[in-house]
Amino acid sequence: MLVRSSLPRLFGASAMAVWPLVLVAPERRHDAALIAHERVHLQEQGDWLAGWALVVCAAVGIGYLNHGASPWWLLLVLVNPWWVVYLVWPSFRLRAEVRAYRVQIEQRGITPAGAALLISERYRLRIGYAQALDLLMAEH
Ligand SMILES: [Zn+2]
Repeated sequence: MLVRSSLPRLFGASAMAVWPLVLVAPERRHDAALIAHERVHLQEQGDWLAGWALVVCAAVGIGYLNHGASPWWLLLVLVNPWWVVYLVWPSFRLRAEVRAYRVQIEQRGITPAGAALLISERYRLRIGYAQALDLLMAEH
């Protein structure tokens, strides 16, 4: 679901995916390629959440058996595991962005050079421009 919001700007972005929403800054709401980039992240988050639902059910079940009904276990429901891994694991973040920027490039929303520049500067990845460009252009 697409939602106009200036919230992504707080994070220095124009758009962001927070399942089940894609938040897009008002002035970029017609940028189909940017939205396609975010939909890549959204799709992956949805896939992860399907697996996460099993983990939460198991945790709630085990927690119930060991401790009785405890609301603490239910707080796991609030966690978006994709975002946790994205934030703490740079190589996952890099791969996620390469997948999303490839889609944005295919849709002519950004040039490979532009995407490589953003990847090397915006995501705290310690990767150079040339290396980012290589990854974007590699066979996949
Ligand atoms: Zn992205």
